[in-house]
Amino acid sequence: MGSGLPGGRGMRVAVVGGGIIGLAVGADLLRRGADVTVYDPAPDGIDGAWHVAAGMLAPGGESVFEFPRLEHLLDASNARWPEFAAGLGDVGYDDAGTLGVALTADDVTEMAREWRHQKLSPLTGSQLREREPGLSPRVRAGAYAPDERQVDPRRVVAALRNVLHGRLVPRLVDDVSALDADAVVVAAGCGTAALTGLPIRPVKGQVLRLRGEPGLLTHVLDGAADGRHVYLVPRADGEVVVGATQEERTDRTPTAGAVHDLLRAALDLVPGLAEHELTEVTVGHRPGTPDNAPILGRLRDGVFVAAGHYRNGVLLAPITARLIADLVLTGTADPIIDDFTPGRFGCA
Ligand SMILES: Cc1cc2nc3c(=O)[nH]c(=O)nc-3n(C[C@H](O)[C@H](O)[C@H](O)COP(=O)(O)OP(=O)(O)OC[C@H]3O[C@@H](n4cnc5c(N)ncnc54)[C@H](O)[C@@H]3O)c2cc1C
Repeated sequence: MGSGLPGGRGMRVAVVGGGIIGLAVGADLLRRGADVTVYDPAPDGIDGAWHVAAGMLAPGGESVFEFPRLEHLLDASNARWPEFAAGLGDVGYDDAGTLGVALTADDVTEMAREWRHQKLSPLTGSQLREREPGLSPRVRAGAYAPDERQVDPRRVVAALRNVLHGRLVPRLVDDVSALDADAVVVAAGCGTAALTGLPIRPVKGQVLRLRGEPGLLTHVLDGAADGRHVYLVPRADGEVVVGATQEERTDRTPTAGAVHDLLRAALDLVPGLAEHELTEVTVGHRPGTPDNAPILGRLRDGVFVAAGHYRNGVLLAPITARLIADLVLTGTADPIIDDFTPGRFGCA
């Protein structure tokens, strides 16, 4: 493996993993003149967290309590999304914003911490229903997050696969040093641990997809109903994504309890969803790290990593692509990357 060519044009870069992160990095490198190959055992398949993900672009979520410096990275990537989406065509990008919602007094107490942190103005139940008439009359209070957006991750991946057409190779990589390239980017989601020894663990999430007449909801809803946390992401075509459990488990089994809890919370908040068809129950694994922030940077000479994006891989795709492509092609990147290097776990 060589150390690369000056300026990066023509540099042969192998990207391991054709999920949303590997594809976004590969597309950025390709656009800037690199000779990119993306390896994935199923480059046309659905075996990645992206296929399950709701696609909320929510920089103010709970992750920032766990790792405060992550907030800058989330904000920086959120700011890049309009241009990133425009470059991919129609990927379901929607900037109507998110309504935080709470059903009971206890739910209000629980959600208010997040709303205060995001400095959102509170809304009463009737103010919420003015914006979103499908909400139950039982919804007590909420808040509006205008900077939160959504996108359809399946359409994003399809568009990125088009950009990289002819460069996706069906192969499960088991040894990065065996790849014939000037540089390797390991972006294999949960598969990154086996390839690098980095501490990335799978965090199971179960998600439902419902389908009905378009227009029942126009905002993403994120809230709590009788102690059950739930989000609802309505697409323009009538699909509503309902998520998600968060379980420290590796299995792929959808469970009756999870489906019950998600549907119960969704219908408590939006009773009209009872008429929707239940079209999918899916299970995915978020690639989590010990501090739940991503791992971005150089692992060793010629080997880079972009993994561990946990609950924010869709949101973080544009900034990850830019930072890693800069690092691979020029040897340096914006200092914002310094908080997220593999070195914080004693690697590199
Ligand atoms: C239930 C759920 C809801 C989510 N909701 C959101 C959300 O609303 N907003 C958000 O921003 N994020 C969300 N996420 C998180 C997001 O999906 C992930 O952070 C993101 O998909 C990580 O991208 P990735 O490319 O690193 O991994 P993945 O999307 O998992 O892709 C990894 C790819 O690597 C390939 N691979 C693995 N091992 C190898 C190997 N050895 N060789 C070659 N290829 C390999 C796999 O086949 C796969 O295609 C959610 C995740 C889940 C599970």
